[in-house]
Amino acid sequence: MPSTFAKVPQSNRSLRKALLLAAAVILGTLGATAVAHTQENQNAAPQAATPLSGPGATQAPANAEVHVMHVQGKVYMLVGAGGNITVQAGDDGVLLVDTGLAPMSQKVLAAVRSISDKPIRYIINTHVHADHTGGNEVIAKAGETIAGGNVVGDIGASAGNQATVIAFQAVLDRMSAPTGQTPAAPQGAWPTDTYTTHEKKLYFNDEPIEIIHEPNAHTDGDSIVFFHKSDVVSTGDIFVTTTYPIIDMQRGGSINGLIAGLNHIIELTTPKAMQEGGTMVIPGHGRLCDQSDVKFYQEMVTIIRDRVQKMISKGMTLDQVKAARPTLDYDPRYGADTGFWTTDKFVDAVYNSLSQKQ
Ligand SMILES: [Zn+2]
Ligand SMILES: [Zn+2]
Repeated sequence: MPSTFAKVPQSNRSLRKALLLAAAVILGTLGATAVAHTQENQNAAPQAATPLSGPGATQAPANAEVHVMHVQGKVYMLVGAGGNITVQAGDDGVLLVDTGLAPMSQKVLAAVRSISDKPIRYIINTHVHADHTGGNEVIAKAGETIAGGNVVGDIGASAGNQATVIAFQAVLDRMSAPTGQTPAAPQGAWPTDTYTTHEKKLYFNDEPIEIIHEPNAHTDGDSIVFFHKSDVVSTGDIFVTTTYPIIDMQRGGSINGLIAGLNHIIELTTPKAMQEGGTMVIPGHGRLCDQSDVKFYQEMVTIIRDRVQKMISKGMTLDQVKAARPTLDYDPRYGADTGFWTTDKFVDAVYNSLSQKQ
């Protein structure tokens, strides 16, 4: 059964938003538990590098639950499995954007089944991190490819009769042969249909779906997904509501690419005149948003980038930049001294990213 959030009338935006906020508070608490849990695990068993991990969590607490929320049109949002999961369901079957953490796969499948019992046909991965691709293997196997013209660029034997897994080429490169000590992801989890151009289009459940690559943003393999008729954008970790933006420089992320991605999300979205709503935006982590939320976040990130850039131009060192507190006014909302993505790490990433020779 979809949760009660699904039954809130579309017309009552303010009540809906209040409920979403309440849900965000509850889920935020769960998220914090998940990160704390992972930190403990990492402390207990130190590893050379966290393989293909996202913001901290590669394991979920045993009692974690997946919540289903109807967004609008044919699109739903699953929260609680790691990164947010987007589900589009209709007569043709089910499409997922991201699959959550591996240990949550069965709960994700149960949540999908509460929306639709049609076959899972497509999985789109927004990027490589394990909190977005961990469920690929189990969930793809539970699905079925559409035979015929839709299977283009299929890597054959490994795909078999399973859902088609779509991602930007860099996601497959990293999952199949990551550099350094990080082990490859299991072959059953790999994308089976990759793209290398600016975008890939799909027509599914009576709506055009645009998969757009955002170069060197959160990582080097980011895609955002725009559901044209439902009017929903799924952003992956280019946009999150819980922390400062995470820039995975080890995997090709950059502050300027991330801001370009945020700008692009704003371009794709349309607000409703004089009110909240319009295009809905599903972030990689955190609560359901609309264009005004993305604009606020984009302004914050751009202001901080510009401050750090000015300081670099003056010849300030990283330590001097940190001492000048370029994030100070935003720290109450996004800052953190502990956990996976601290304010310190964010300023490191902005500074190093801007100092890199392009
Ligand atoms: Zn990520
Ligand atoms: Zn994530």
